[in-house]
Amino acid sequence: MVERYRRWLERKTVERCVKNLNRNGFDARFVQAPEAACREILGLISEYETFGIGGSETIRQIGIIPELTGMGKTIHDHWASELSPDEVQAARLAQGRCDCFLCSANAISARGEIVNVDGIGNRVAAMTYGPRKVVIAAGINKIMPDLDQALQRVRQIAGPMRAKSLGMDTPCAETGECADCHSPQRICRITTILHRCPMMTDIAVVLVGADLGY
Ligand code: SF4
Repeated sequence: MVERYRRWLERKTVERCVKNLNRNGFDARFVQAPEAACREILGLISEYETFGIGGSETIRQIGIIPELTGMGKTIHDHWASELSPDEVQAARLAQGRCDCFLCSANAISARGEIVNVDGIGNRVAAMTYGPRKVVIAAGINKIMPDLDQALQRVRQIAGPMRAKSLGMDTPCAETGECADCHSPQRICRITTILHRCPMMTDIAVVLVGADLGY
């Protein structure tokens, strides 16, 4: 019985989030599963030739990179294996000039705001200006009730999990708790809030009924 009402609340929150994202100028929709997200995104981006991939586990989890590779698209992915340091840097720069940038978000408020924290800044830069199209894929675990809780999520959940996954020497990677650190390896250096869709960027948001990414 409890599960039934948990799912009801989850559905209502997702509906509110999609409605408010659309009100805020984003092109938002919900799909049930990662496979459906991959199909949905392919339908949005087939006209484009060059793609930037943000540092995102979610984009990898939905399986879209092999699909794009199979279609012969040009992909700028700084996580690709066997890249030299210069090639990694070139991929980050190219992400801001590609036709379409694919990424996730660290948190999305049910009121329709999108929050991200970056260490370098290539992801948040490409999300807001440069590419003709941006597609943000996010699991429902990223949806928080309001902006305050979305900001809390990036420090309390996304930051520690990401720092741990990268093997960073930060307090959170040891304790699981943000210490607003002064570590040289601090990954939380830039926070962006998309209150509304940026003026010159077409941003689609695909929310997925699964837990994805950090
Ligand atoms: S500010 Fe430092 S301690 Fe806090 S989440 Fe970011 S890296 Fe971890």
